[in-house]
Amino acid sequence: MSIYPLGLKLAGRRVLVVGGGAVATRRVPALLAAGAVVDIVSPELTPALHGQVDAGRASWTERRFEPADVDGAWLVHVAVDDPAAAEQVSVAAEARRVFCVRADDRDAATAWTPAVTRQGQVTVAVTDGGDRRRAMAVRDLVAHALESSPPAAGEYKGVALVGSGPGDPELITVKGRRLLAAADVVVADRLVPGLLLGDLRPEVEFVDAAKIPYGPAAAQEEINRILVERALEGKFVVRLKGGDPFVFGRGGEEAIACAQAGVPVLVVPGVTSSIAAPALAGIPVTHRGVAHEFTVVSGHIPPDHADSLVDWAALARLRGTLVVLMGLKNLSRIAGRLIAEGRSADTPAAVVQEGSTSHQRSLRSTLGQVADAVAEAGIRPPAVVVIGEVVHAAV
Ligand code: SAH
Repeated sequence: MSIYPLGLKLAGRRVLVVGGGAVATRRVPALLAAGAVVDIVSPELTPALHGQVDAGRASWTERRFEPADVDGAWLVHVAVDDPAAAEQVSVAAEARRVFCVRADDRDAATAWTPAVTRQGQVTVAVTDGGDRRRAMAVRDLVAHALESSPPAAGEYKGVALVGSGPGDPELITVKGRRLLAAADVVVADRLVPGLLLGDLRPEVEFVDAAKIPYGPAAAQEEINRILVERALEGKFVVRLKGGDPFVFGRGGEEAIACAQAGVPVLVVPGVTSSIAAPALAGIPVTHRGVAHEFTVVSGHIPPDHADSLVDWAALARLRGTLVVLMGLKNLSRIAGRLIAEGRSADTPAAVVQEGSTSHQRSLRSTLGQVADAVAEAGIRPPAVVVIGEVVHAAV
């Protein structure tokens, strides 16, 4: 059978979905993303579809299908198991010359939904005469090829502040990876996974932010200057930062510098080490019946320092989880202060070094002993310290 491929503009157009089960649940989001006006006819809905209806994104007629439901629809999706019921919809659609997708029987359908991959402005749709698995396999191959192909000119501009995740190169987001592949200039931090940088096209300008001389303040100004300057030259700049760009990453300052220079900024959040490193050591930062809060704090300034913005006394009164980043150097002072302010020295504490990488190490101790334990074990930065009963909830 020979089919005629087509891209439908469904925005504002009524699409009838018959059925409210698992298949409809999987199909409706793409219809909504295309802007379709989705009407679902079904005696029952899954909770996910209920959610769409409650949010006003789709409408629901709570009964079995009637042929007149097709009136006014541009497209019909049949997502019911019962072949006789599905056939009834097909007949009604055919009589009204409305294309009809059948999840239960592709031969009876008058339209097929292809396997789809989208990257930026490119949509690739694959059909294979009846073999959906093969279509999906081809789709995956194309998706993979697209990821590493150069982007369309002009598709990307300005600066993207991209979180690279905690260290495992697979923990960058899909969006972050796609933007990285499109970059003309990449400015990367020390903690960015090196394997992500190995894939860059040879013509990409690479700036290692860790190698910029001067003190930290001047180096930050220099980074801001490079981001703005390259973007104003018309290049697409990806500023790649460890973890999440806005968690102790100075991402906010860079976003402001770009905005002030009139450079568009796109923020792509990342998987932050403050949650991921404990998680990968088996420690959930919250746990039912154990901790209903977690607080992430920087330990780079000691508690008694004039520049400290952290209320350690308040933190000591919390019973929830405390996650300290950049805290190894000051760990004994931090632990000492928390204990002095009332947190028990027996509170469980753990330290996770280089979480998500092949060098990951961790240790468990107590608040009273953790600083000594770290020194003894030779734990080095980057590491997070987790303080709280969740350390015992570890799997
Ligand atoms: N924006 C980053 C944090 C930057 S501050 C994020 O969201 O993860 C740098 C600190 O993060 C390090 O000193 C360390 O405390 C922590 N860190 C970063 N990567 C880490 C990793 N893989 N394992 C443990 N801690 C990590």
